[in-house]
Amino acid sequence: MSGKSRFTPRVERIAVVGAGLSGAVIARELAEAGHEVDVFDIRTHVAGNCHTERDRETGVMVHVYGPHIFHTDDREVWDYVNRFQTFMPYRNRVKTTVKGEVYSLPINLHTINQFFGKAFRPEEARAFIADLADRSISNPQTFEEQALRFVGRELYEAFLKGYTQKQWGCSPAQLPSSILKRLPLRFNYDDNYFFHKHQGMPQHGYTDMVSRILDHANVAVHLETRFLRGRQGDFDHVFYSGPLDGYFDYEFGRLGYRTLDFERFTYDGDYQGCAVMNYADVSVPYTRVTEHKHFSPWEDRTGSVCYREFSRACGVDDVPYYPIRLVEDTEQLARYAARAVEEHSVTFVGRLGTYRYLDMDVTVREALDTARRYLSARAGGERMPAFLHPPVRPHDVPSEQVDLLPLRTEGLRASL
Ligand SMILES: Cc1cc2nc3c(=O)[nH]c(=O)nc-3n(C[C@H](O)[C@H](O)[C@H](O)COP(=O)(O)OP(=O)(O)OC[C@H]3O[C@@H](n4cnc5c(N)ncnc54)[C@H](O)[C@@H]3O)c2cc1C
Repeated sequence: MSGKSRFTPRVERIAVVGAGLSGAVIARELAEAGHEVDVFDIRTHVAGNCHTERDRETGVMVHVYGPHIFHTDDREVWDYVNRFQTFMPYRNRVKTTVKGEVYSLPINLHTINQFFGKAFRPEEARAFIADLADRSISNPQTFEEQALRFVGRELYEAFLKGYTQKQWGCSPAQLPSSILKRLPLRFNYDDNYFFHKHQGMPQHGYTDMVSRILDHANVAVHLETRFLRGRQGDFDHVFYSGPLDGYFDYEFGRLGYRTLDFERFTYDGDYQGCAVMNYADVSVPYTRVTEHKHFSPWEDRTGSVCYREFSRACGVDDVPYYPIRLVEDTEQLARYAARAVEEHSVTFVGRLGTYRYLDMDVTVREALDTARRYLSARAGGERMPAFLHPPVRPHDVPSEQVDLLPLRTEGLRASL
């Protein structure tokens, strides 16, 4: 066992539920501080939804639960993940197919010029779009109205309407306007999907990276092991990154999630020439096709494996992907949050434990902060809170639901 932290009066026994990024980082930090950490996961592998594995037939590294690109402006987080893995340069350049034509995303000057058959310079395009925008909508209430006000009907119907409907299972006319806060266009040729300073792909995949994070003498990983609520008494503290409603046996009903189905197919060669091709038309039942070998351009693979991705409501036995956070869910979420606060010695973390869409860098940041808070709380004799990042803030309950919507926006933006 490694040396004890000067902050810890005694070695504690900690349970971490979930071997995803949240659980792994918390486990590592507490193990390095001298505590004994047991990590439990129901799955057969570590890394949670970031899990990557080699496709048996083609040898391609596959993002099993959907494409994951690491991007951050947080220097400490970037340094942290680079401690456990070499990150290869990677820029996410997404394309979309609309009525049989391929366009560049996010909608940029190239997209606009191609779509309208023009050769605009930036200011000309800006003026052209301003003319298309529906200025009769002064107080947009829905996603649809907001989009029409920003970009006009043609771009909205081609690029936003069908895709949003497939992704969220409802008409954009039923989604709140707050989801689309900013003009979703670029008036230059920048097609880098993310703006972040640091972007990359782990050389040997996310699962290898998370395995290395968990590789510490004070950490014991128990796969295929469901952690049940009755067990928290065996530990000094529990960090729970499983579903918040699941922890309480869904006693107030199930929180709404979207789930994804993937249809795998192989191809001899290069199927689509890029990692992610969206399909914006509602007549195409899937939202996108991911060709995984393009995530590892430094590997030379002739064979290829692709996933068609379908989005639908999450059923009882499905993997929860995107928290929906419908306005109607606020009260139910608040009841779970209040219930969680009554638990002693349990802290709810991560995307499922706090029912929020979190990018990986935010997940790592929150996990680092959580572990540090735990160590300082222990040193100061304070109680560790149930949430460092509450799913609902006190003033959100139950009528001020609007504040929750930006969180859902993250999920939506991540999928647009
Ligand atoms: C389709 C999709 C694409 C994404 N793409 C990106 C991207 O490109 N870039 C980016 O930064 N982020 C992306 N993300 C977000 C990323 O997946 C999350 O940031 C990350 O998975 C959060 O990690 P976590 O540990 O909180 O949760 P998870 O990865 O979900 O880990 C939770 C773990 O807990 C386990 N568990 C649950 N209940 C129990 C129990 N009772 N007992 C034992 N184990 C349990 C689960 O099996 C799971 O392994 C994407 C998310 C989705 C859905």
